Amino acid sequence: MVINDLRDNNFLIKTSYHISFENRAHHEAEVTVIFEDVQPDVLTVAMSRASPGRYSLHEFAKNIYSVKAFDREGILLSIARPNPHQWEISGHQGYVKLAYTLFGDRADGTYVSIHPTYIHLNMPAAFLWAKDFAEQGIRLTVDLPDENQKILTQLFPTEAPNVFLAPNMQYFMDSPLQIAPFEIREWKEDFGQSKFGVRLGVFHTGASEEISVYEKMTKRLVRESLAVWKDAPRFETGEYVFMCTYQPYVEWDGMEHRNSTVLTSQKLLKTDALDSAGTLVHEFFHAWNVERLRPASLEPFQFDRENISDELWFCEGITSYYDNLLLNRASVQSVDKFCERLSVFLTRLINTPSRKLHSPVEMSRQAAFQDRASFYDRTNTPNIFISYYTYGAALSLALDLSLRTEFHLTLDEYLQSLWNFYGKTEIPFTNADLQNVLENLTNESFAQHFFSSFIYDSNLPDFEKLLSTVGLALRKKHPGKAWLGEVSLTFDDDKCVIEKPTLQGSPLYEAGLDRGDTILRIDDTRIEEKADYEDALQALRPGMAAVLEIVQHGAAKTVTVQVEENPTLEVVTYEKMGKELDQLAIKFRADWLGAKATHDEPPLEKHCPTCNRAHPFEFDFCPYDGAKLGITRG
Ligand SMILES: [Zn+2]
Ligand SMILES: [Zn+2]
Repeated sequence: MVINDLRDNNFLIKTSYHISFENRAHHEAEVTVIFEDVQPDVLTVAMSRASPGRYSLHEFAKNIYSVKAFDREGILLSIARPNPHQWEISGHQGYVKLAYTLFGDRADGTYVSIHPTYIHLNMPAAFLWAKDFAEQGIRLTVDLPDENQKILTQLFPTEAPNVFLAPNMQYFMDSPLQIAPFEIREWKEDFGQSKFGVRLGVFHTGASEEISVYEKMTKRLVRESLAVWKDAPRFETGEYVFMCTYQPYVEWDGMEHRNSTVLTSQKLLKTDALDSAGTLVHEFFHAWNVERLRPASLEPFQFDRENISDELWFCEGITSYYDNLLLNRASVQSVDKFCERLSVFLTRLINTPSRKLHSPVEMSRQAAFQDRASFYDRTNTPNIFISYYTYGAALSLALDLSLRTEFHLTLDEYLQSLWNFYGKTEIPFTNADLQNVLENLTNESFAQHFFSSFIYDSNLPDFEKLLSTVGLALRKKHPGKAWLGEVSLTFDDDKCVIEKPTLQGSPLYEAGLDRGDTILRIDDTRIEEKADYEDALQALRPGMAAVLEIVQHGAAKTVTVQVEENPTLEVVTYEKMGKELDQLAIKFRADWLGAKATHDEPPLEKHCPTCNRAHPFEFDFCPYDGAKLGITRG
């Protein structure tokens, strides 16, 4: 979506929305929308079925009701329903006013939440729209329910604090709006030729001082992100808005938009600011990667169906790799914590049976069934899918380390090249374009091999060798420990039941156990609770055979399971292993994880609630008493 210079806000307004929240105690809002200069005899309006940044169907029409249409004189117009998400209005004379009730009771980035103290509107989930009006300007008037509340949005402001504009439907739908008693911090960023404002709005249960520390973390993360791309996106309103709601009643989410992000979490800033900051920088990174450096498959975004893309491994994988890396460059995360996150990516990718079936491109195509999709029947997800976030992040690691060791280049420089060709210009790209730019930067055989082996096919890079160049080892986390399979178990009524499909190739799978089976006994141990299962595993050794008594489809059975070694992997520093780190590895690691833009910022501290000592910000626990550290005193 390229938006021409709109800073004068001279939009030709043809659609006007009004929303009020009289019945917010019961999660309802009243919406009216006026369409002017309606040309077609029959005006078709629709509720979206998809939302930018989400790739499955959501059928937002389910949460609007009492839809009525009026002409200019207030006379009721007739409405036909060609399908569940469209309304056809006839008999109008160039003017249609629609009124309906909107229900919303899920607080995250994807849906609508209407609550006495907190309102979140994700536009596709809230507003009816008309294709015939998609290219024209939109006005939204919000009845502020409470004087103490503040509105945050990337919509264009007007003189009136409760009236906002959008140049067209695509921008409007991409512009969530929130109403809450936000504490707002604002500052200006000055990066080369680009200047922009940042607004950080936080609605949380903690203290103001916590927001002050979070603001410092955010500034570092913003500056380290700018240093990756060496250019700032052109934010059309002149600013970028972080809308952070950290409350016990929200669901975890992070949703990227062009000039803003919605961040929701139940975690407290005081003790878990690092988790929230990881999501914050992930979504900010999307202002480049996916919002502007955007796959052709997502342009324009379709609101009436799922959007399929071959490039989500890049959009989400690169971004997930950097959200971890940037926490280190901003000096808010330890190398050990960074390694823990790499361990999760690599364990999942290396051990998943799904890789035999699908490449990262195919995993990207699965998003419609995986990205917050819900189904009534069961699926074989654990055996056929690994998240394109995880897959792409692991490949980003491999690409970054390969570029560093083989070409004296970095993944940052690859992104800068892509930004110059496809991001700044907003020319949508394909996987073939990604390969071409890599080839220009390296050589034909490297780019060809990387894409044909790892992107279009599902071979794995040599992670162990690549990690060794930066003094990190990839090894088994629980060597010699018994394992029956990555399995999720429930223990209701003293019964151990397998909850999800067992993993292909794992001991339980090979012995014929699957979802719904009850494990009564492993050798001599009766399994009634989680501890029993763990005790039974403790007694086993890889290579042994274990005898399991089970109930399968109502029938009691005895099966023999071949015990294997736990395949969970971990990435650890050579220092931690007592292994020497050579000068080259020290240099490589410093170039990789070290600050690029924030060396001069004064160090942040964490505080121990037990002994009140201050510690470096990268610490998670007090080295004296083991207490979890907070970002403020007390
Ligand atoms: Zn993302
Ligand atoms: Zn302490």
